[in-house]
Amino acid sequence: MSNTDIQPILERVLGGERMTVEECAALLASHDVARIGVAADEVRRRKHPSDAVTYIIDRNVNYTNVCNVVCTFCAFYRRPGKPDTYVQTIEQICERIDETIALGGTGVLMQGGLHPDFGIEWYEDLLRTLHARYPDFQLHCFSPPEIHNIHLISGLTYEEIMRRLKEAGLYSMPGGGGEILDDEVRKRVSTKCTTDEWLDVMRATHKVGLRSTATMMFGIGDRLEHRVRHLRRVRDLQDETGGFTAFIPWTFQRENTALGRRIKEEPTGMDYLKMLSISRLFLDNVEHIQSSWLTQGLRLGQVALRFGADDMGSVMIEENVVSAAGAHNTADEQMLRYLIREAGFRPQQRDILYRHVNREESAARDASDSATLRELTVAFAD
Ligand code: SF4
Repeated sequence: MSNTDIQPILERVLGGERMTVEECAALLASHDVARIGVAADEVRRRKHPSDAVTYIIDRNVNYTNVCNVVCTFCAFYRRPGKPDTYVQTIEQICERIDETIALGGTGVLMQGGLHPDFGIEWYEDLLRTLHARYPDFQLHCFSPPEIHNIHLISGLTYEEIMRRLKEAGLYSMPGGGGEILDDEVRKRVSTKCTTDEWLDVMRATHKVGLRSTATMMFGIGDRLEHRVRHLRRVRDLQDETGGFTAFIPWTFQRENTALGRRIKEEPTGMDYLKMLSISRLFLDNVEHIQSSWLTQGLRLGQVALRFGADDMGSVMIEENVVSAAGAHNTADEQMLRYLIREAGFRPQQRDILYRHVNREESAARDASDSATLRELTVAFAD
């Protein structure tokens, strides 16, 4: 599609009108990423007029790698009974939380495989124990596939499960396991919950008063129309519940995965920036769009801040799932602050609900705010 063809779409959206799915498909088919990015940057500026770009200090804890379904894009899971399976103890999880708190962290993102023996009580015990020990620490845990697995094991409705987990200390839920919300794609690559089940878990989560994020992992054999349907389903549910805090798209990481060995094409940096920008323009009811430096590299993750993203994501003290599939990028707080500042913004720590966090003491923060890239100790990974 030529530039002149997409210009009226961008003008309509910048004029405050809602993008149609046909227009979304037309933008996805366009190669004019720069023009789409400028429009997304403008919408980002209107929604977030201050010069702050946020980041969070937390870590991913993967309490088990045992999983009773198969996703061909996953390099993390192990089938039940295999020798290299693990389940972390409470003490191991607490050690990680203590380290996170020492680094100024405000919460933990905890997810695991779909363990065939873990019913609701296992998750309630875990949350209750952690919440009793760390009452102010935000437990941002699980994902729709894990909730669906509890539903299969315990025979409870999604709403009952979410209510009980909330009572046990769950603070919010990550939008993991979204991949592409279209069964034509999902069923080819995974035996986990369907599109409707994923959406129903999120609906129940929001209904009991918890917030969540929504994600998209593209490049798993999906075509443009599948990506459009995914965005529409997220926007529709957000119209209904208003429960999504943020949308986080990223690209499939292929290393060590069965799907990666089969798939011929993978998304480029341009595809990522285009998807991110279109997410900002299409999801007019979602406040925050997050850059995924972990999967895209620090440089492209920084550029994303001018393509519609207003958040740099997590310092990610620990991550095991996408790193098993080849994403080896690392950063610390100094580095994220540096990248945000060099993109022309003011770095601002936040919590899981995007509220600003102002720590009194932060040697890392203060050092980074006068540092040059050369002085920073973390490798500037590609
Ligand atoms: S992505 Fe999640 S549900 Fe799928 S195999 Fe990996 S751990 Fe299991």
